[in-house]
Amino acid sequence: DIEFDDALDMFRAGVAKDPSAVALRYFDGVVTRQELDELSDGLANGLLANGFAPGDRLAVYLQNVPQFVIAMVAAWKAGGVMVSINPMSRQRELTYLLKDSGATVLVSLEALYDSVARDVVPDTDVRLVLTTSELEFQTRDDERLFAGMERRRHEGTTDFGEFVQQHRGQAPPPVALGPDDVAFLTYTSGTTGVPKGAMNTHRNVVFTAQVYRDWVHAGQDGGAIFGVAPLFHITGLIGHIAVSMLAPAPLVLAYRFEPQVVLDAFAEHRPTFTIGAITAFSALLNAPGFSKDHFASFTSIYSGGAAISPTAEQGFLQATGKQVHNAYGLTETTSPMTVTPFGSPSPVDPTSGALSVGVPAPNTVVRIQDDDGNDLPLGEIGEIVADGPQVVAGYWGKPEETAANLPGGALKSGDVGFMNPDGWVFIVDRKKDMINASGYKVWPREVEDVLAEHAAVRESAVVGVPDEKRGETVKAFVSLKAGATVTEEELIAHCKERMAAYKYPRSVVLVDELPKTVTGKILRRELRG
Ligand code: ATP
Repeated sequence: DIEFDDALDMFRAGVAKDPSAVALRYFDGVVTRQELDELSDGLANGLLANGFAPGDRLAVYLQNVPQFVIAMVAAWKAGGVMVSINPMSRQRELTYLLKDSGATVLVSLEALYDSVARDVVPDTDVRLVLTTSELEFQTRDDERLFAGMERRRHEGTTDFGEFVQQHRGQAPPPVALGPDDVAFLTYTSGTTGVPKGAMNTHRNVVFTAQVYRDWVHAGQDGGAIFGVAPLFHITGLIGHIAVSMLAPAPLVLAYRFEPQVVLDAFAEHRPTFTIGAITAFSALLNAPGFSKDHFASFTSIYSGGAAISPTAEQGFLQATGKQVHNAYGLTETTSPMTVTPFGSPSPVDPTSGALSVGVPAPNTVVRIQDDDGNDLPLGEIGEIVADGPQVVAGYWGKPEETAANLPGGALKSGDVGFMNPDGWVFIVDRKKDMINASGYKVWPREVEDVLAEHAAVRESAVVGVPDEKRGETVKAFVSLKAGATVTEEELIAHCKERMAAYKYPRSVVLVDELPKTVTGKILRRELRG
């Protein structure tokens, strides 16, 4: 079921096909496939010269910059594993991630090194710190490849660019990678418990890149892929980087998600595919100067990582003229588990009003199970369980969590949903987000979808808060569209009219912005207070 034994072979096939083609665009800068190959050779040689051995971990603490991709390929060329770290991580989180993964090499942005990593590294196994700047690669001139940059010196660190240049010029010795070797460790964001390092194997990566190419139509005909999602997240790793290698197609990077910068880059680079959370798209549509033309070049757009309401899907269509497709996955399914096939409209469930997250990806079995792990009949609501070539091998160094969440190799998603007779999957909510109001189950998603139908509402998050009488009661936090006005009472009345008495929010709080992770997931635990 996989076209390449490992993701390095997948990358190399793209280089062989057309070495001079563009691999990465970053502002005015361009990195060709051959340059990416040579730069990652240099880094891999340097790693090997510094004692990096097969299976060792290289941690990447970067925004969406070309060095991210260079480091990832270099880790594989040296037979190692990349550890993907959220650049928003602060000292405590970074310490945990470096220690848990046992990384011996850290590639960090200079600014992040200065503000966060410097104090953390001495407590970890990291022996080599390579620092780099987001200014590298931004320009087109021939000096751009690390030459002539004014470098800041940090005690105990090595400059990434100089290190690569120093070891460049020949290919590293071949390594034996196989489908079951770990390509990267991706940490669950910790919205549920302690972050766990999911072991995404080369099989997982090659397989899901194929799903993106064949089902999602990413990078088809060599059209550019735009990196809206952060690269460290599984959506970025697969839906941006891996599929750009497989297609092959150029990947456009924009440092980080700034709506105005992203819209300008759409206009300049004319990408044909992107995937991101609906919250990111909503920020683009609400940015000053947004027009339909910004999306004109796209042939395929996917939303993933967070729920999208039918109202938001329709709103996107009206604003951009393009259909946004829904895809669902987790870090542990290496991104896609279910996908709305390109070109198909997603059905809406008539009872719950939810938009489908798609049908199971090829070779993927999706089951709906009760709390005891028994399969439930079609249409019944239970936990979504996935089995297929994208499901991770387990959690790094956590056999107990692996046994609990991946019994027999299938993933218990923690999401609650059902499958209709045509095989479309619908998510009701995350298991732990369920609200228990006087013994009645309330799923926040359903209340949020009803709130989304109100013309003034931009986004909402519904949580359960402790209540003496009911155990828990429903509370909504709502942000409004620019210029819109509505009172809290009006929003309560809007919901009351449309849903059963136990479901409608008893209180509504208007906020400017909802707290979110960088991947656009709403931080409900912060709202629960
Ligand atoms: P943690 O397990 O620590 O909370 P996380 O939330 O960051 O980690 P991810 O793997 O990033 O984990 O996100 C996976 C979750 O995102 C899914 O379990 C699901 O709840 C949600 N999700 C992803 N795609 C969709 C979608 N299309 N619709 C609704 N929810 C989605």
